[in-house]
Amino acid sequence: MKALIYKNNNIELVEKPYPQILNSRDAIVKVTLSSICTSDLHIKHGFVPFAKEGVTLGHEFVGEIVELGSEVKNLRVGDRVSANCETFCGECYFCKRGFINNCEHGGWELGCKIDGCQAEYVRVPFADTGLTKIPDSLSYENALFVGDILSSGYFGAEMLGEAETVAVIGAGPVGLCAMMSAKVLGAKKIIAIDINSSRLNIAREQKLADYVFNPMECDIEQEIMNLTDNRGADGVIEAAGGENTFELAWKIARPNSVVALVAMYENNQVLPLPDMYGKNLIFKTGGVDAVHCKKLLDFISEGKMNTDFLITHSFDFKDIIRAYDFFEKEKDACLKIGIK
Ligand SMILES: [Zn+2]
Ligand SMILES: [Zn+2]
Repeated sequence: MKALIYKNNNIELVEKPYPQILNSRDAIVKVTLSSICTSDLHIKHGFVPFAKEGVTLGHEFVGEIVELGSEVKNLRVGDRVSANCETFCGECYFCKRGFINNCEHGGWELGCKIDGCQAEYVRVPFADTGLTKIPDSLSYENALFVGDILSSGYFGAEMLGEAETVAVIGAGPVGLCAMMSAKVLGAKKIIAIDINSSRLNIAREQKLADYVFNPMECDIEQEIMNLTDNRGADGVIEAAGGENTFELAWKIARPNSVVALVAMYENNQVLPLPDMYGKNLIFKTGGVDAVHCKKLLDFISEGKMNTDFLITHSFDFKDIIRAYDFFEKEKDACLKIGIK
């Protein structure tokens, strides 16, 4: 079968053998729809030191189970499933506490340390925890982002706890999912911040944000203070990972609030403790614990969430190298690509 691999800080389409069941909790899944994630680009550019040379990329997908290991009891061959971007055993110290990103036997494996979904078929370890059955009422498109970017956005919103006014820095796919999640979790006012006006327009059109601000056009700190009686936002989700976005995040947070960092930074960030003394902030950092896939699928079924608009473009798998270029350069205002 054809597979897209990471090689020499680049990508290449090669021929690989079909995956086989190796362990009793494995499943083989026929990939019916997948996407490209910014993390794939991080690997491509060599920013993920533990990514394995020659690995098939991709961890964001839905598909149909074609083969199951003997110990997987909660799934059947033929089930339509949404995949979790994290591989987790469900039994170790961290898994038992919900911190599946730190699973002692897993973590970010698919498309990084072991072959991922940018191929015809993929082997999924710990399939009984890592795959969630898609309800009959939902299409593959409806469920595509549940196990990765929607989980990441939800993770960010959940880290804030109760927050009435939530500022989200970055209106890219994860930022938009964070806004959607903050609303479901009870935020009353959502503020979207991005330097890309077309993404801000999407946030507004999709009714995910009540206010949108572009730092190129206004003073963000001032705008946030105006909206919050000079207190600052009750919670900030940093989903941009840009040059000054970490600094902006703590500056617009009100004292005693949570700043949730879901962005994947490529460089170190500075924590100027003397400047923020007395603000009493709580910083929470993320590698998503994607433990709410079932709940997110239910939210989508109930019409409380919808991520369909994120698929702005579609490509055939054979054109995946062109799709990477398209996604990376954000051509034609591309948000996410569906690959069939
Ligand atoms: Zn991802
Ligand atoms: Zn575990």
